[in-house]
Amino acid sequence: MATSILGAPIAAALENEVTAIVSELAAAGVVPRLVALAAGHDPASEVYLGRQAKAAARLGMSYEIRRAAEPTEAAVLAEIDALNADPSVTGVIVQMPLPAGIRSEVVQARLSPEKDVEGVHPANLGALLESAPTVAPCTAAAVVECLLASNIPLRGADVVVVGRSRIVGRPAALLLVEKDATVTLAHSRSRDLAAVTRRADIVVMAVGRAGLLTPDMLRTGAVVIDVGINEVFTDGKRSIVGDALPAIADVCSAFTPVPGGVGPVTVALLWRNAARLAKRRLAR
Ligand code: NDP
Repeated sequence: MATSILGAPIAAALENEVTAIVSELAAAGVVPRLVALAAGHDPASEVYLGRQAKAAARLGMSYEIRRAAEPTEAAVLAEIDALNADPSVTGVIVQMPLPAGIRSEVVQARLSPEKDVEGVHPANLGALLESAPTVAPCTAAAVVECLLASNIPLRGADVVVVGRSRIVGRPAALLLVEKDATVTLAHSRSRDLAAVTRRADIVVMAVGRAGLLTPDMLRTGAVVIDVGINEVFTDGKRSIVGDALPAIADVCSAFTPVPGGVGPVTVALLWRNAARLAKRRLAR
């Protein structure tokens, strides 16, 4: 019977870490001040913003939602420039998805790396090549946290990461190498994906295709970390599923469920990044 790696307790432990940093900062008279920058009124983002506000209050951080004057790249970049110049702002979260026509990589690169809570500025991505980056992209870091919290050995382990995006697959591969894993990075052009994943002790799915990973693609006892978030409709009913078929539970030894696995850990790491950036600023 495979173990389900649940995100909630891992996220709770990370939140304790955040609270400890926030208390340390409070003792020095500093409260992290976060700004969430929204460019439009995407319904899913509005729900997410509400959740962020509640979490920030619980964790003792100041939180404000700022909206670009209009849903254009120029207006978003103008807001970013203002936030970069405001010394009271310690961190910025750019709400995704951005409206059509606004290039996320341009916006991410404009934000000061010192305020880049999501860890996606090119300078912060580059810092992943060093051993101890201050902030890493949250989802990539969540993959490693799920494995560490579950005491799954990484040193020398064969890990296959499927998906090579700039902010999920690639950084996850780098973070895993840093933990002494032997990492293969697979993607849409990989030849015979099943043969690649079958060799792995740990398979990380970061693709965005429901049911891509099937039980026959796994070695018995493998661990599956499923990053995928896919909306599917069955008999007209909407649900969210990962990249792995539920039947992988018959073959693997442990897996992260979707929802309830990597997602909550990703969110907790956003707050840890926010606390770490505020702390780094204080240390200057
Ligand atoms: P991207 O679309 O940017 O990247 C997808 C990657 O999957 C690409 O590298 C692509 O390869 C690869 N791919 C596509 N089809 C296949 C295939 N058939 N076989 C092997 N590889 C394939 O997605 P993201 O990295 O942004 O996100 C990945 C998933 O993670 C999504 O479902 C997203 O919703 C989810 N996500 C989850 C988060 C969480 O907190 N749990 C947070 C962020 C994202 P190629 O490069 O060759 O095109």
